Amino acid sequence: MGDGQRAGPTPGDPGLTGMARFSSLAEKLRFQIGRDGPLPLATYMQRCLADPEFGYYTTRQAIGRRGDFITAPEISQMFGELIGVWCVGAWEALDRPDRFCLAEAGPGHGTLMADLLRVLAARPDMMRAMEVVLIELSPAMRAAQAERLEAFATAGSTVGGAIRWVDALADLPDLPTLLIANEFLDALPFRQYVKAAGGWRETGIGLNETGKLARLLLPVLADPAILPQGADREAEGSVFEHASAREAVIETVAAHLAKNTGAALFIDYGHAASGFGDTFQAVGDHRYRDPLAEPGRHDLTSHVDFERLAAAARASSIAMPRLATQGAFLLALGLLERAGALGSAKSADVQDGIRADVERLAGPAAMGDLFKVLQLTSPDLPLAGHS
Ligand code: SAH
Repeated sequence: MGDGQRAGPTPGDPGLTGMARFSSLAEKLRFQIGRDGPLPLATYMQRCLADPEFGYYTTRQAIGRRGDFITAPEISQMFGELIGVWCVGAWEALDRPDRFCLAEAGPGHGTLMADLLRVLAARPDMMRAMEVVLIELSPAMRAAQAERLEAFATAGSTVGGAIRWVDALADLPDLPTLLIANEFLDALPFRQYVKAAGGWRETGIGLNETGKLARLLLPVLADPAILPQGADREAEGSVFEHASAREAVIETVAAHLAKNTGAALFIDYGHAASGFGDTFQAVGDHRYRDPLAEPGRHDLTSHVDFERLAAAARASSIAMPRLATQGAFLLALGLLERAGALGSAKSADVQDGIRADVERLAGPAAMGDLFKVLQLTSPDLPLAGHS
């Protein structure tokens, strides 16, 4: 970085090879910060999630009722099934390409993909045309996905090609593409800025007087171009978050769709309009945690700024990015009808469970309003789910 800020060492930092092993990520980070100076929050987050030795996603099976947090596909099969319905509509709107790629970024335990493929199985013409590509960094998660999707990936299954994995979105094949990403963007690092006396400064992670990890402000001023309107009128202590890594994902996908045609859905918690506020959070064992306690032990995320993402999509040639709340999206795709069918002739207990799942996925007090669904298509396609 040429702005006078001291970047932390990267995981491959030659200065660390051959050194005594660390027993925890906290110890490793304290050593590096003591040696090289504070890290930007984004680097801290990246290290906590992806450190090859101690990172959260590299070492843990995090998601699910027994894991640290629960996601929509883990709540109910209806979520993945309705996204399967959306996929069928998108493939038809693209004039049924006879070869296409169905991609998922950050597939977790593979649950969404399994539920979705069950819906697609009713369309052998689509299954034959399809190549499934999963974008996943973590070897532990890849193993979980392979196990969950085994039935679809074996020879003789109806999926056209075997399921394969790539490291990054840039590795997607040049084919018409349907891409799904549920709770993927929130896991990508973001920078945080705080209004201080002399202007907006970036949040960093350093050491306090007792040698513990602590938040501090880095000396650098924020680039005014990334600050939203009204930033200069904000009171001291006000917080703004910006995630260029998330915008880069949107730009990569937009360029891929523009080149190959297709459609993408990004589903995550966040705000439809950019705003101020600290949304950095750690979740472990279904509770909020201190993001600086036990680095690598908890999931670290922040809310997604969908206004910035839609702007990034527009700037990358997506004519009309569409945004809906998760509740509106799922209802438009037939959540209530699917729930009715699933509960028909079942016990009252099972029906109550399905009703509770509907409420959790689509109810405004649960995930329905907080979660948003951003749809990108090229060419512009009006698809079910976004009015
Ligand atoms: N979509 C799943 C999982 C969400 S958790 C669900 O809804 O249950 C985030 C997922 O993204 C995990 O599988 C994690 O290993 C993966 N991931 C995080 N950062 C990534 C990156 N930079 N590249 C690829 N995958 C990543």
